[in-house]
Amino acid sequence: MARFRIAVIPGDGIGPEVINSTRHVLDAVGQKFNHDFKYEELLAGGIAIDTTGEPLPASTLETCKNSDALLLGAVGGPQWDTLPGHMRPEKALLGLRSGLGLYANLRPAILYPPLASACPLHPATASRGIDMVFVRELTGGIYFGDRGRREGKNGPEAYDTETYSVMEIERIARMGFELARSRRKKLTSVDKANILESSRLWREIIIKLHAEYPDVALDHLYVDNASMQLILRPDSFDVVVTSNMFGDILSDEAAMITGSIGMLPSASLGQPGCPGMYEPIHGSAPDIAGQDKANPLATILSGAMMLRLAFGLPTEADAVEQAVNQVLSAGYRTVDIMDKSGSADGLKLVGTREMSNLVAAAISKGAQ
Ligand code: NAD
Repeated sequence: MARFRIAVIPGDGIGPEVINSTRHVLDAVGQKFNHDFKYEELLAGGIAIDTTGEPLPASTLETCKNSDALLLGAVGGPQWDTLPGHMRPEKALLGLRSGLGLYANLRPAILYPPLASACPLHPATASRGIDMVFVRELTGGIYFGDRGRREGKNGPEAYDTETYSVMEIERIARMGFELARSRRKKLTSVDKANILESSRLWREIIIKLHAEYPDVALDHLYVDNASMQLILRPDSFDVVVTSNMFGDILSDEAAMITGSIGMLPSASLGQPGCPGMYEPIHGSAPDIAGQDKANPLATILSGAMMLRLAFGLPTEADAVEQAVNQVLSAGYRTVDIMDKSGSADGLKLVGTREMSNLVAAAISKGAQ
């Protein structure tokens, strides 16, 4: 029996609800495929501030470092909004990213066929399907560059600086090429090389590395064109690799064309051998917390990414994703993915707990 240590941070708001759901589903995977998932629940975010006085206790980070992977619900809420910046719950996320060296953010954007009507694009476009992954650089670029205020020739001004080293570009590019190699073997690199020097270096390095991945088809898009092509021909994208800021913006665009925020998982990864962080892209949704209304599928699908990427269990990850598809195909919906057009015939409204029970049951029943 294989044993995996999972650091679990439920966090705030709907965090504990979606994490409980995901543990339930992982337990079904463990039983079905004979794995032992050992969870260690840890404090971070608002609940950690209330309990220990700080958003990310040192003991939480230490335990995460010594685990095989980290599964996180969400942090934050209005009751902590007035605290000073360094004491905000969201500080825990930055502390985890920097403490674990998580430099790559993977965000799949998949339109599940039963949810096609939730896609805001033209039905003919939606019917061709969407299945892409964004690989966003997470710890460099303009979000981390030199910044400030100063006196300029036209008076007071502000500046931010985009800086990328060869090392930073190479490691994120490799992540993109490797991922493309494991999928449909197509990598799109997004930059602004017609204007920015940092983008010209980005493109140079990507082209150079391509020699090591001849089986992967590579193309380049300027970021403004990429934002149009995502709407026009989303089915043609497989893996997209890009910088911190371009990835931040484009991955949200890609997320929206696949329907609800309650469906979207993510993984933040660092060096091989270091634990990655798996979490839904949504926040703590204080407006629906504690009401059994949250869609747990984004966190459950983050769990599937953890099985595949952290534990090397692709069959088990496929089983979770197939179970989700099966439950959606059978018409079960949490409130966020009910058909907004009013044609809700055949759809069955379920809560957080029932949705995870259904997914767990589908895994238990599925073929091994
Ligand atoms: P949010 O994602 O929490 O909620 C936005 C909207 O989406 C709300 O109407 C909410 O009800 C809905 N929603 C979100 N997740 C859902 C789910 N699983 N099922 C059904 N509906 C869902 O964003 P927000 O309201 O801007 O932020 C709330 C708090 O979460 C803030 O304190 C924010 O800082 C924090 N936040 C945390 C993270 C994180 O922990 N990674 C990410 C984003 C926001």
